[in-house]
Amino acid sequence: MLDNLRKTDLQVYKAVDAEIKRQRENLELIASENFASLAILEAQGSVLTNKYAEGYPLARWYGGCDYVDRIESLAIQRAKRLFGAEHANVQAHSGTQANMAVYFASLNLGDKVLAMDLACGGHLTHGHPHNFSGMFYRVFTYGLNRKTERLDYDQILYLAKKYKPKMILAGASAYPRIIDFKKFSEIAQKVGALLFVDMAHIAGLVAAGIHPSPVPYADFVSSTTHKTLRGPRGGFVLCKKQYAKKIDNLIFPGIQGGPLMHVIAAKAVVFKEAATKRFKNYQTQIVKNAQALASALEKKNFRIISGGTDTHLILVDLTPKGITGREAAWVLEQAGITVNKNLIPFDKHSPVVTSGIRLGTAAVTSRGMKEQQMYLVAHFIDKAIENKDNPKELEKIKKEVILLTKSFPLYNEIL
Ligand code: PLP
Repeated sequence: MLDNLRKTDLQVYKAVDAEIKRQRENLELIASENFASLAILEAQGSVLTNKYAEGYPLARWYGGCDYVDRIESLAIQRAKRLFGAEHANVQAHSGTQANMAVYFASLNLGDKVLAMDLACGGHLTHGHPHNFSGMFYRVFTYGLNRKTERLDYDQILYLAKKYKPKMILAGASAYPRIIDFKKFSEIAQKVGALLFVDMAHIAGLVAAGIHPSPVPYADFVSSTTHKTLRGPRGGFVLCKKQYAKKIDNLIFPGIQGGPLMHVIAAKAVVFKEAATKRFKNYQTQIVKNAQALASALEKKNFRIISGGTDTHLILVDLTPKGITGREAAWVLEQAGITVNKNLIPFDKHSPVVTSGIRLGTAAVTSRGMKEQQMYLVAHFIDKAIENKDNPKELEKIKKEVILLTKSFPLYNEIL
């Protein structure tokens, strides 16, 4: 495989080859990552990358669009069916662009938005001052209950009444618990706000019916396709019919040019894969694995934020271990375990240092790992942190990690 790439560009080939090795040998615990199927890699690596198709199916600005029309129509129909949505736009290049389309379609510059505080698990596009969302809109934030470390719907209602936002945003990058979208919609209705749900992290769980769907409750739902959903890197927007034209016009010509037809083809494939019984079983196992990993870590004296997880995601407070998130992420990487440092609710450290790490089980579950392996993963994490100043021991753990990952082969067919 990759013979042509090797012949044409040895430098890029070597980096890709090393990355394949890294993905195969490491324990991938980054909560926003996954391993797409070979069918998805094939669609994304296809000749569709050559095709310009500005516009939408049957209404393009370019000729030669018969086949890409067929593909985009399939992706739209499948996304609508999978999530029970009235309208789907599958052209957003990323989750950020999906979110940008929703903001632009529903708000005027300077309008008020109520969204989840970044420090409690929200995303950059939910109002960070250096992101378009924080630059263009007046964003007020809700956090978590200090005791339960869960969303506090009474507090959200109180803030909604106080600030009277035009839009309320639900959804997060680092929240391990079920989000009650019905409660969010009741709050939005009480204050006459639009409800926008960013389900990027949990889209796979929602597709499988394991996390309640936001679609019946929200005016707009945005998502990425590459996290729990296990598709290609990209975004999409679902909305009520009444907003369909606005969203479509906002994505093209509003904020994007030609759609990435090779990515849209891969999105069509994932929307098909996600409708199967196999996918539902996979999503069920993701959550079982996350719960097993969280409880194994808790037994080893890590503090699990909110006491556990209902999803693919675990937020770990490292304070009892006397190590910061930044240091732990580095140490774990030396042991072949990839995670990211993360703020915990009410963190006393800065976002650069942090007191926590965020873990996710979507990728390791894609390799076929089950609860039994999660106990082993918890053991590796604990041992690596205990041996943070012992490079020899970290090297030994890395060898054990490689042994484990070797018994759950990844992309063997393409190398
Ligand atoms: N929304 C949420 C909740 C996310 O977690 C992310 C990415 O991590 C995004 C949006 C942005 O997605 P992208 O990186 O594709 O722009």
